[in-house]
Amino acid sequence: SQIKQIEFVKSSARARDCPKDHRPEFAILGRSNVGKSSLINALVRKKDVALTSKKPGKTQLINHFLVNKSWYIVDLPGYGFANAPESARMDWSSFTKGYFLNRDTLVAVLLLIDGSSPPQKIDLDCANWLGRNNIGMTFVFTKCDKTKGGKRTRPAENIEQFQELIRKHYPEPPPWIMTSSVTGMGRDELLLHMSQLRNY
Ligand code: GDP
Repeated sequence: SQIKQIEFVKSSARARDCPKDHRPEFAILGRSNVGKSSLINALVRKKDVALTSKKPGKTQLINHFLVNKSWYIVDLPGYGFANAPESARMDWSSFTKGYFLNRDTLVAVLLLIDGSSPPQKIDLDCANWLGRNNIGMTFVFTKCDKTKGGKRTRPAENIEQFQELIRKHYPEPPPWIMTSSVTGMGRDELLLHMSQLRNY
């Protein structure tokens, strides 16, 4: 399940411009600053997978990376930029939602959630929207090494609270994994999880 090779394929402005070769893909989504680039680099064991979405002006594109010549990691625009004008937030909804609703080869969305912070409305809204639209997702909690105020159990508490809020809408919450790009926690588990989903 390890990543031996990864190559950037293309940036697409809309779902219909995405690669059409039918390889399975996983979309990585989350609030800006959630630790997305760090996680992708940790998965790949590389310092700098060029995340096009980080380049100014390229934030609103769907970026396809081909892994081991057989499946894609898709880097999506982050949501919830604290200072983004309302118009930028609306962009996320129209175009990223179009991708989710029209992408047949999408195996699952890896929804990145900061495990070191209490549940945030924007993440819950996103999870609920994906759930309502029957889009498969896995919660990937990031920064689980962080222990604010010396309380070791903090990420566990945050995650439990998040799950509790999700269970109000879905009796059977999606699979979830605790990760840290600093310690490598959850890395192999996430790779294995993705390979199992691909082989269904
Ligand atoms: P992105 O905007 O979602 O791509 O987030 P980045 O990967 O750039 O990370 C945002 C900030 O969080 C950076 O300061 C990272 O060093 C920090 N960070 C990311 N992942 C982790 C993690 O697993 N543990 C800790 N402690 N910090 C992290």
